[in-house]
Amino acid sequence: MLIDNNKIKEVGPPQQVQAHLAADVKIIDLGNATLLPGLIDSHTHLFLDIIVPPELEQQRHNNGLFAPGMLLAVIESPSKRVLMGAQSAREDLESGITTVRNLGHSGIDGDTELRDAINAGRVAGPRILASGRKLITRGDYVQNLNPALADAILQQEFLLIDGTDRARQAVRQNEFQNVDVIKVAADVNLTVAELTAVTEEAHRQHLKVAVHAPDKISIQTAIDARADSIEHGNEATDAQLKQMRDKGIFLCLTPTFNDGFYLKITEPSIVISPASRAAAVDRNKRRKQDYDQLVQRVVKSGVKFTTGSDMCWFHPGKTRGQASAEILVKLRDAGVAPLDVIRSITTNAAEMLGWQDRNGAVEPGKFADLVAVAGDPVADITELERVQFVMKDGHVIKNELGAH
Ligand SMILES: [Zn+2]
Repeated sequence: MLIDNNKIKEVGPPQQVQAHLAADVKIIDLGNATLLPGLIDSHTHLFLDIIVPPELEQQRHNNGLFAPGMLLAVIESPSKRVLMGAQSAREDLESGITTVRNLGHSGIDGDTELRDAINAGRVAGPRILASGRKLITRGDYVQNLNPALADAILQQEFLLIDGTDRARQAVRQNEFQNVDVIKVAADVNLTVAELTAVTEEAHRQHLKVAVHAPDKISIQTAIDARADSIEHGNEATDAQLKQMRDKGIFLCLTPTFNDGFYLKITEPSIVISPASRAAAVDRNKRRKQDYDQLVQRVVKSGVKFTTGSDMCWFHPGKTRGQASAEILVKLRDAGVAPLDVIRSITTNAAEMLGWQDRNGAVEPGKFADLVAVAGDPVADITELERVQFVMKDGHVIKNELGAH
């Protein structure tokens, strides 16, 4: 392969490409490694670093969706949060994630500023599609917070949808921050008219709309309002999957909590009672069964899907990139063919982002965002947890494949 500046210029057998190289071309020999396009995490939260608090705190100080760990992560100093976001971005890149779609919880402008800083070469990180503030309804995140404080937190983290005019206004406010995508958290309070106002306004500005929709009602609202992607989609029925396929709506799968993830992030740092541990194991088993079933129905339905880590947790002993890459094996274990798992974080993801002309494939004209693994990721998808070589924008970020 020949790379010119930050783009792939030519792909072919080494002899063919080498036959017409200029004398000063730098050669990188990756030996028998498997080369892939840079990985795309299509749902992440670089600016959240949630530490699950002890049980009593969770039980006695719970504020609905603002569980104590989430609340503490959100009310950090914005500067500290941005620096932690920059660390997560660098760690993602070092694990081969060369593009992320960051879907909310970045404060007012953390993600757009980090995106610009990375693009300007000030800090290392993946290409970022930034959503800015997440659009929510009044009933969603803030309902259990102290009203005297709720509005301040709301202003920092969210834009409120309350009627179609406010919905359009919220999209425009994000446009003012120069976002790349609009993120909406749908719940039963969100009407089709409100969400349609969002998608119309966003599409007018050529922005795609990603809708958090775990339950049947929200999923239907997202379908009817012509969202571009549905995030999570846990309760999608076969009929809804068919509608999504027919309308070209992507499903972003996030099997984050399958496979004992909760205990992995809690047990190293807090004491868990035997009863609570047993409940977690049981919950995990049911969640995995349900999600694996969903994944199998998704594969059968023909709906286009991508994979998102939804990573927003501090994972003891792992970098953010390592924690995020662990999600892939869960899809394989749920019955997705390894090549389709790879497509879900490369070609399919690029298409969902609207970036199919710039990344997601090893093809002439695409950005030189590449990763290499020592073995065969089709035979063993966990190879992608051990990316040995990373290039972004034509620059080598990491090369552990030996000196060449
Ligand atoms: Zn999320």
